Amino acid sequence: MTNTSEQDAEGTLGEMGSIIDPGLPAPGGAFDEHHPPDAALIGDCVHCGFCLPTCPTYVLWGEEMDSPRGRIYLMKEGLEGEPMSDSMVSHWDACLGCMACVTACPSGVQYDTLIEQTRAQVERNHERSAKDKALRGLVFSLFPYPRRLKLLRGPLRLLQKTGLDRAMRRTGLLDRMAPQLAAMESLAPRLGKPQPLPPYIRATGQRRAVVGLLTGCVQGAFFPGVNAATARVLQAEGCDLVVPKAQGCCGALSVHNGREPEGQDFARRMIDTFEDSGVEQVVVNAAGCGSTMKDYARLLEDDPSYADRAKAFAEKVRDVAEILDELGTVAPRHPLDLTVAYHDACHLAHAQGVRAQPRRLLEAIPGLELREVAEGELCCGSAGVYNIMNPEPARELGERKAANIVATGAELLVTANPGCLMQVTSAIERSGHSMGMAHTVEVLDASIRGAPATTLVPDPSSHSREI
Ligand code: SF4
Ligand code: SF4
Repeated sequence: MTNTSEQDAEGTLGEMGSIIDPGLPAPGGAFDEHHPPDAALIGDCVHCGFCLPTCPTYVLWGEEMDSPRGRIYLMKEGLEGEPMSDSMVSHWDACLGCMACVTACPSGVQYDTLIEQTRAQVERNHERSAKDKALRGLVFSLFPYPRRLKLLRGPLRLLQKTGLDRAMRRTGLLDRMAPQLAAMESLAPRLGKPQPLPPYIRATGQRRAVVGLLTGCVQGAFFPGVNAATARVLQAEGCDLVVPKAQGCCGALSVHNGREPEGQDFARRMIDTFEDSGVEQVVVNAAGCGSTMKDYARLLEDDPSYADRAKAFAEKVRDVAEILDELGTVAPRHPLDLTVAYHDACHLAHAQGVRAQPRRLLEAIPGLELREVAEGELCCGSAGVYNIMNPEPARELGERKAANIVATGAELLVTANPGCLMQVTSAIERSGHSMGMAHTVEVLDASIRGAPATTLVPDPSSHSREI
């Protein structure tokens, strides 16, 4: 973006939409011809600004170009011939991809599609700094690979058991030398024992469905307890479970960061893994993964050998709260005397529209009281790997979310995404409060098993609960 763009933004925004010829990117502009941001979708924006108060970066900085409307304006400029500048890219990079603007927009602007198309263009057509490339290289050679992440568990557990992690944080040295690496280290959850799942698990009682389970990258390596709880709850609710050992990454991190070919490869492999397994549905317990897998049809629309298969696969994908809500309860619930603050993960609430189901499931537990979190639509700052790439705004958003959660007075925070759990846990710990953290299925599992509430809420004198 040029200075002129910023100064003229408000005035020129009024003309946006009428001057774009849909489907005809201007030669020499920011974008190549492979899926540039769709001009017709850009034209849907009527510049009303209803999205602004829900956009975390606009809330933080109050800058038009760091709002959905401003970012769409920059896409339009790129289509009209403006070359891709560092400044333009910095405004798109600062977007968390939280999709709160999609929920808020009364005109149905598909910002999710627009930012994905734009990010793929940025990855192809923009030269990043050497430092940025190195950080991205590290992140993307690690996070989408479950086996590599699992190898990190040993050294991380050692750091945590010896207390070296906390000692290192207190010195602030890593923060000053490499804030992105410091962010990565501070987000690591406290690791418990691995809990591998067998490849086939039979339903308890009468079988009501045969489902596949995505074990995930971060979920599988850092939150094995969530996968184990998911399997137990589904089993108790009458599901046979298929858990393919060879499954890899769903491609969410790659897709959300513009690494389109890499994301497509992961998606193809995921389809291959589950296609002949005989499952009726594929169950996901990580919000970011579920929203990407439901969008495989668009991701692979240009691939003649996968387009139809991707569509069929995407129709089978369900978040675990969705499928449990659809199936209805057969396993009896035991009381849990707990106050719970439920945090909507953006990629569950905004991207998949799954809000009522987890609340219904939690409220059906006798003794459990659900409390709503103020500013619930605002992202916690996790956003995939955003909190590693952009630690400062992510930290600010994390602290704002932590304060709103603590203000509920609840004993336990419940959410449905590993990224949110890590981000909010770390922010609440920094604020000096003690609070339990759990995935929705861990609470359901505790209730079905008749486990006491203390298995979810830590003793205030201890550090956070192991997972
Ligand atoms: S709410 Fe929708 S139409 Fe209004 S400015 Fe935002 S994106 Fe554009
Ligand atoms: S996706 Fe989130 S951060 Fe990005 S423009 Fe929309 S509301 Fe703002």
